[in-house]
Amino acid sequence: MSTTPQSADAEFDVVVIGGGPAGSTLAALLAKRGRKVLVLDRERFPRYHIGESLIPGFMRPMEELGLVERLEARGFEKKYGGTLVWGAQKIPWGFSFVEGGPYKYSYHVRRADLDAMILDRARELGAHVVEEATVKDVIEEDGRVVGVSYTLRGSDAPTQVRAALVVDASGQARVIGRKLSEIHWHDDMRNVAVWTYFDNTGRLPGDERSNILIEGLEKGWFWGIPIDAGTMSVGFVTASSAAAASDESLPELFNSQLERSTELKKLLSGARQSAGFRSARDWSYTCEKFSGPGWALVGDAAAFVDPLFSTGVALATLAASALSKVVDSILETPEIEEAALARYATAYRSFFDEIRTFVGKFYDRTKHKEFYWDQAQTIVDPQRVRDPRADFVTLISGLSGRHPLFHISVDDLVLDEALDEAIAS
Ligand code: FAD
Repeated sequence: MSTTPQSADAEFDVVVIGGGPAGSTLAALLAKRGRKVLVLDRERFPRYHIGESLIPGFMRPMEELGLVERLEARGFEKKYGGTLVWGAQKIPWGFSFVEGGPYKYSYHVRRADLDAMILDRARELGAHVVEEATVKDVIEEDGRVVGVSYTLRGSDAPTQVRAALVVDASGQARVIGRKLSEIHWHDDMRNVAVWTYFDNTGRLPGDERSNILIEGLEKGWFWGIPIDAGTMSVGFVTASSAAAASDESLPELFNSQLERSTELKKLLSGARQSAGFRSARDWSYTCEKFSGPGWALVGDAAAFVDPLFSTGVALATLAASALSKVVDSILETPEIEEAALARYATAYRSFFDEIRTFVGKFYDRTKHKEFYWDQAQTIVDPQRVRDPRADFVTLISGLSGRHPLFHISVDDLVLDEALDEAIAS
C-alpha cells in the first residue's frame, strides 16, 4: 500500500473543507506562509451560526491573523467575564478574565459578522475561497486521501480537486470524520439546546454589565449573552433524555424554565422576543482519529465539547493555528507527515480532554464555587502553586499554558529526517 505524501499532480498544497473559524484561520495562516490553499464552504458568507460568546484563548490566533484592530474597530461587545447562578449557593458569583491571564477581555459577537471577517482575512492573505461549494466526498488512492469532490450550488456536476493534504473543518457535518473515523459520544453530555433573541433587555449591574450570565435551574441551564446594544441571545440547555421525556415542547420548556429563573428573568422583564426559536442537538463527542494519510481534522470536525464555557471557537482557532505550523512543516518535509500529525493529534486531544473533564465536573451542581476552583486547580496546576480561583479562570479562558498545543513544534522531526538523509547519502 502506498501512502506517499504529496501527489505530484496536486493542484493545491491544502484543501480545507469548511470556512468557519477553524477552516478560515487555518487557511489564512497557511496562505500567510505562502502556501497554496483552497477553502470550500457550502454556504455563502455572511451566514448565521450559533456560538456567540468568546473566551480569551481566541485572542491569540486573532493576533497571529492580524485581526485584533479590526475586531476592536467592529465594535463587538467586550466580554470581561461571567456571572453565574450555579451550584449549591444560590447567590450569583462571578469571575473576571483579568484574574486568569494576560487578556482583560474577549468579545460577544454575531457569528455571521465574525466568521465573514476571518474568511475575508484568509482571502486577503491569498487563500482561494469558493462559497456555495459542498464537498460530497473525499478522493482516496492507495489508502491516502488525495483530494475532494464537490458540487456548486445549483449544479449536480461534481468537480474534483487534488491537494497534498486535505483538512476537514466542516464542523458538526464531519465530512471526513464520518467516513474515516469512529466517533465517541460522551454520555454525560448528551444535551439539546433551544435559543432565541430578545431586544430591549436589561443589563447586569456595574462591572458585570457585559458579562455572560449562566443560570442553572432544575432541568438545565440558561445562557444570556448581551451581543449588542439591547439585544441578548438567550439559550436553554437540557439533557436530551429529559427533553424527550417532557410533555413540553422545547420552546415551552424554555418559557416555563425562564419563569423559574431569578437573574435572567429580571434582565428580560421589559424585553421583547425578537426572533423565533432555534434548536440543536449538542452532544459532546470526540473522533477516534484526528488524522490519517493525507488528512487531518480541526475544530468541531474533530471534537465538540458542551457550550457551557463557550470554548468552541477558541478551541477551533487555537487548534487551527497549531495545525498550520504542522502542515507547513509537512509540506516542506513530507516524510515527517505521520509523526507530525500524530503530535498535533495528541496535543489537541489532551487540551480538549482537559476542558471536557472540567465541564463534566462543573455539571455537578450540588457543590460550592470553591469545589469548582479546586477541580480546575487539580487539572491545570496540580502542584497547587497559584490561587485556585485564578486557575479556574485560566482554564475557562482557554489559556492553560502548560499545553503542547500552544507551543507545538515539529522541528526535531525535520532535523531527524535531514540527519537520516545525510547518513543515507
Ligand atoms: P463551524 O463554525 O460549524 O464551521 C463549519 C463550516 O463548514 C460551516 O461554515 C459549514 O457551512 C461548512 N460545511 C459543512 N459541511 C460542508 C461540506 N460538506 N462542504 C463544504 N462546507 C461544509 N462556541 C463558542 O465559542 N461560544 C459559544 O457561546 C458557543 N455556544 C454554542 C451553543 C450551542 C448550542 C452550540 C451547539 C455550540 C456552541 N458553540 C459555542 C460551539 C461553536 O459553535 C463551534 O465550536 C464553532 O462554530 C466551531 O467552529 P468550526 O469552524 O469548527 O465549525
